[in-house]
Amino acid sequence: MKTNLFDDAMRRLDTAIKHTDLNEEIALRVGTPKSCLEVSVPVRRDDGSLSFFRGYRVRHDDTRGPTKGGLRYHPSVTLDEVKSLAFWMTFKCAVVGVPFGGAKGGISVDAKSLSPMELERLSRGYIRLVADFIGPDVDIPAPDMYTNERIMGWMMDEYSTIRRQHVPAVITGKPVSMGGSVGRADATGRGAYYCARELAGKLGMDPAATTIAVQGFGNAGQHVARLLHKDGYRIVAVSDSQGAIYRPEGFDIPSLIRTKEETRHVQAVYCDGALCHSSNAANMTNAELLELDVDILIPAALENQITAENAARIKARHIIEVANGPISSEADEILNANNIGVVPDILANAGGVTVSYFEWLQNRSGQYWELQEVHQKLQAIMAREFHRIYDLHLAIGTDMRTAAYVHAIKRIGETMEAKGTRAYFANGSR
Ligand code: NAD
Repeated sequence: MKTNLFDDAMRRLDTAIKHTDLNEEIALRVGTPKSCLEVSVPVRRDDGSLSFFRGYRVRHDDTRGPTKGGLRYHPSVTLDEVKSLAFWMTFKCAVVGVPFGGAKGGISVDAKSLSPMELERLSRGYIRLVADFIGPDVDIPAPDMYTNERIMGWMMDEYSTIRRQHVPAVITGKPVSMGGSVGRADATGRGAYYCARELAGKLGMDPAATTIAVQGFGNAGQHVARLLHKDGYRIVAVSDSQGAIYRPEGFDIPSLIRTKEETRHVQAVYCDGALCHSSNAANMTNAELLELDVDILIPAALENQITAENAARIKARHIIEVANGPISSEADEILNANNIGVVPDILANAGGVTVSYFEWLQNRSGQYWELQEVHQKLQAIMAREFHRIYDLHLAIGTDMRTAAYVHAIKRIGETMEAKGTRAYFANGSR
């Protein structure tokens, strides 16, 4: 699965490069990460024993600025996976035009099996090992799967202790009381919502007549569903890891969110509340949800959900990819052939990194913004880049994913060209 992610990303990049006249050196440069760090984090357990956890940080490309990307805690984290995710971050940052390159990190750990104090020791221990690899002008981590704002707060605190100065801009996604930005918590879902709104505007969709299914009712999925529901869209199906619920007349999303909150264990940092325990709706599997006949399908859970195996059975007219990599490159071809439009992940879920950029700016200037300012600035960026990519896909006659990669590689390529490539040096120019 991990190799597939990277192979898929490279295949998409190769396709995009064919639509540009960029120098071949650019593809060579972004084909491999700039630097990778592997660490072993010792953690003293509550029972006195000592455990070691393998951790990684990969800086993929810093052509456009310091590198930026999340930190994930999951047993399946490997260096290959982190490299692929760092590659994606380079393109995501370029798509929305924030002045960052791409990075990613992670620790191979089942975070749910640790006590809160063990989790804190692990997080601080990791920062002690990567402190010379990161920094506000070098590489700026953020939350990802199974990490959250409390963990980001511990990490910022540890880094500041090491540097003997307050360095809030070293990490984003912190609690607001520790220098986090208002509006960061729902930024990914909100960014996807702005994309959905622009798409609906382009296609003249009427919210009340538009049906939507959301796979994954976590942070990103809940927020995009909540905002679309508020605009009058009909959210007819949602799911979590336990299964899906379906109601053709649509759900009241705020009360679903409350149900999900109530069934969650009120315990420390993680949630395992299950949606399918709430009902007056039909239960179905996640696979069935993906194949529903809806106007918009929003995968917001995991990678590789729509593959060559099920792509031909997808009936949605449009897909907005909130998860990273929910559609394989083989499935792309089938969806294209069936005229199913996809708003790609590197655009649709870029709201999170955009508001992380706002947080970094606020930390560096010491001036903090109101929520309305965050929303306005996010909306402006998401709408602007959506339209550029939408127009580009029509102009070059490709799907939106290819257009998004073309858009990003051009931005990265322009910076590389400015530093000089063979085309410049071999001509002996002065
Ligand atoms: P989350 O952990 O808050 O939520 C994930 C949800 O998916 C949970 O409800 C979980 O129960 C559900 N889920 C897990 N396995 C599932 C399965 N097999 N089928 C259906 N649902 C399943 O995570 P999140 O932060 O909302 O992230 C979701 C996706 O969005 C991930 O791919 C992540 O990389 C991507 N993403 C998130 C952000 C962000 O800021 N949160 C930013 C960019 C991309």
